[in-house]
Amino acid sequence: MSPSSTTPQATVYGCPRQGPDRELKKAIEGYWAGRVTAADLHATAAGLRRDTWRRLAEAGVTEVPTGDFSLYDHVLDTTVAVGAIPARHRAAVDADPLDGYFAMARGTQDVAPLEMTKWFDTNYHYLVPELGPDTVFAANPAKAVSELREALLLGHRARPVLVGPLTYLLLAKPAPGVDPGFQPLTLLDRLLPVYAELLAGLRAAGAGWVQLDEPALVQDRTAAELNAAARAYRDLGALPDRPRILVATYFDRAGAALPVLAKAPVEGVGLDFTGPAAGNLDDLAAVGGLPGKRLVAGVVDGRNIWINDLEKSLATLATLLGLAGQVDVAPSCSLLHVPLDTTRERDLDPQIARWLAFARQKTAEITTLARGLREGTHAIGAELAANRADLASRAASALTHDPAVRARAAATTAEDARRPQAYRERARAQWARLKLPLLPTTTIGSFPQTTELRTARADLRAGRLDRAGYRERMAAEVREVIAYQEKAGLDVLVHGEPERNDMVQYFAEQLTGYLATQHGWVQSYGTRYVRPPVLAGDISRPRPMTVDWFRYAQDLTDRPVKGMLTGPVTMLAWSFVRDDQPLADTARQVALALRDEVTDLEAAGAAVVQVDEPALRETLPLRAADRPGYLAWAAEAFRLTTSGVRADTQVHTHMCYAEFGEIMTAIDELGADVISLEAARSHMRVAHELAEAGYPREVGPGVYDIHSPRVPSTVEAAALLREGLAAIPAERLWVNPDCGLKTRGWAETRASLDHLVEAARLVRAEL
Ligand code: GLN
Ligand code: ZN
Repeated sequence: MSPSSTTPQATVYGCPRQGPDRELKKAIEGYWAGRVTAADLHATAAGLRRDTWRRLAEAGVTEVPTGDFSLYDHVLDTTVAVGAIPARHRAAVDADPLDGYFAMARGTQDVAPLEMTKWFDTNYHYLVPELGPDTVFAANPAKAVSELREALLLGHRARPVLVGPLTYLLLAKPAPGVDPGFQPLTLLDRLLPVYAELLAGLRAAGAGWVQLDEPALVQDRTAAELNAAARAYRDLGALPDRPRILVATYFDRAGAALPVLAKAPVEGVGLDFTGPAAGNLDDLAAVGGLPGKRLVAGVVDGRNIWINDLEKSLATLATLLGLAGQVDVAPSCSLLHVPLDTTRERDLDPQIARWLAFARQKTAEITTLARGLREGTHAIGAELAANRADLASRAASALTHDPAVRARAAATTAEDARRPQAYRERARAQWARLKLPLLPTTTIGSFPQTTELRTARADLRAGRLDRAGYRERMAAEVREVIAYQEKAGLDVLVHGEPERNDMVQYFAEQLTGYLATQHGWVQSYGTRYVRPPVLAGDISRPRPMTVDWFRYAQDLTDRPVKGMLTGPVTMLAWSFVRDDQPLADTARQVALALRDEVTDLEAAGAAVVQVDEPALRETLPLRAADRPGYLAWAAEAFRLTTSGVRADTQVHTHMCYAEFGEIMTAIDELGADVISLEAARSHMRVAHELAEAGYPREVGPGVYDIHSPRVPSTVEAAALLREGLAAIPAERLWVNPDCGLKTRGWAETRASLDHLVEAARLVRAEL
C-alpha cells in the first residue's frame, strides 16, 4: 500500500555535506589551490548530493531536502539567492560567481570577507549578511532550482530548503559604513517580493513544498518582530501560485512565535521536541494544535550523538497525532551538526558504539518511528527491543556510573566552590609571593603552532616518531619559548602549549569518561571540520595531565610560569555531551577532575594557574528564561575547579571576547583573581565596562590583536594601555595580548611581544 500524503512520513531538514571521507573539503581546497577545476568541483558536489539523497531514500525518507547543501555556508547561499552581495564583492561576483562566492567567504588580498559568527548555540559558523538602507535585493534562484532539478531527475520527491526571511534579516548586521543602529528587519517589505520570486521559481521547477528555516523564532522576540513574522507569512501565504510552505523552527521552543505560525496561512510547521524544546508539546496543545496543517515533529535530537529513546518518542508522537492534520517524524534540526555514520568507528567498544547515533543512524530512527506510527508498534517490535536493550546497557554501564565519581560529586558543598579568603587577603598574599611590577606582562598561553610541531604530531600518529622523540621535540620548543620570554622581559611566563593539539581534545584524551572518534567530523565553517570528543561517562582523572610539562618549564626559569588548563564549561561546550543527566552534573564532575589538576600544579610550585573559559558566553541558552540557571552552574563549576588552592596562588581566567552584556555578573561570580580578555580592537571598551560594573579584581584587557598578522607598534600598545589605565587602577591592570598566539608566526609574535613589553615599561615610567 503506498502511503497517502496524510500518513506519517520521515523527513530531515538537511544533511551533512562533507561526504564519507570529507571529499568536499578536498575538492574545495583543491580548487582554491588550483589543482581541481570548477567543473570537477561541481561534479564532486553533485555526486555527494546524489549519494546523500539515495541513502535517505533507501532508508525510507520519501521527500528529500535540496538546497541545504553548500560549498561553504547556507546563509551565504541565501545572501546570493536574494542578491545581497556587498558592494566590495560585486565586481568579483560578476566576474566569476564561484570565485566571487569564495571571496565573500574568505576575503582576498584586497577585500575583506564577510564576518563569521556562530549559528545560534551550535558550533557551526555562518557568514553574516551585511545590509543597509541602500540594499537592493534581487532574486537569484539558480542554485536552489538546479539542486531541486537534480533531485527530481534522480527520481526523488524533493523539498527545497531556504533560510527564511525573518531569520535572514535577524542574523544580518549593518553593512560597514552604515549607521550601526540600522535594523535589517526594516528591509522586510523589500525582501518579501524576492522570496515570492524564489518560491515561484521553485514551484515552476516542480517543487510541491518549500521549507523556510526560521530558527530565529525560537529566540525571545519582540512584539514588533513577531508582527513582522505574521506579516511575512501572511504575504507569502497569499501568493497565488506558490508551493506549499513548511516553516521550520528548531534549537528551542517556539514560544510566542507558535500562535503566530499556527494562525499563518502556511501548510506546515516544524517544531523541536527535544531537550529544552520539549515544552513545545504543552504549548502546542495550549494553542489548540495545528488543525489541517502538516506538523514536522523533531523528536530525534539532531545535534547530539546519542540514540533516541524510541518508546518515549512514540508516546510524544501519539500525543501529537491528535494535534495536527498530519504528523511527520524528523530530527530536531538539520543533521549538519552530527557526524555521518557510527559504523565507521571501528576503534570503539562495539557495545558503546551501539549507544551512538550519527546522521545515518538518526535517519534510521526517524523512519522506524514513522513506520511505527503508520503500522503500529508491533511492526517495529525488533527495533524497539534492540533500542530498549541499548538504552539499558548505557544506563547500567560502569562507564556512565562510576560510584567513586558520583559519591564525590554528591558530597561537594558550597564551601568547596568558594575560596576561603576574601579577595583583598588573597591579593596581598599573591602580591607578596609574586613580587610583580605594576602593569605585569604575560601572554594567554599558546605560542605559534609551527609546521614543525604539527609535523611532529603527525609523525607520532603515523609511527614515524616514537614517544620519546616526540617529547624531546616538544621539550625543545618549551625551552625556546621560555628563553624567548625571559629575553623579552615578560613577567609571568607560559610554556607555550606546543604539546596540545586542541585545548579540549588534549584534556579529553586524558580523562576517563571521554571517548574519541575516528571519523566523527562535523563542519565548523567552510572547509573546516572538527571532531568533537564524546563526553560519554562519569569523568575522572587517572593521573595528572599537565604537571610534567609545567614542572619542566618552571625548572628552566626563576620567573613564575602559569599552569594552563581548559575550564569545565568549555570542556562541555566543545564536546558532544551526555544527555542522560543534567549538564550541571556533568560540569561538576569535570570541575572536580580539573580541581585535582589545579591542586597538583600548585603542589608542583605553580604560583599562577590559568583556567580558560572562552566558551562561557556561547553556551548561553537561547531563551533568556533559561540563562540564570545556566550561569549559576557554569560559575559554580569554575569556582569548584579553582577554589582548592592557597590564598597566595593566583587564579587567572581568559575569555576570547569583550562583549559581556548580560554575563557581566557571572564573570564576577567566577571569582578569578585575574581575567584576561579581548580589547585591542574595541579600544579597551571592556575595561571601562568592567570598571562601570564595579568589577573588583585584576584585569588584562588585550593590547595586541592576535587575529591579524599586523604587528602593533609600541606607541599603539602604550596608547591602549593608557586607555586601560583610565578605567582600571595600575594596581589591578595587566598587560597581555587578546588571546593565544597559536595561529601566529614567530616573527610577528616576537616583534609584537617586544613592543608590548616596551609599552608596559614606558607607561610604568609615567605612573
Ligand atoms: N590558553 C589558550 C591559548 O592560549 C586559550 C585559547 C582560547 O582562549 N581559545 O591558546
Ligand atoms: Zn582567547
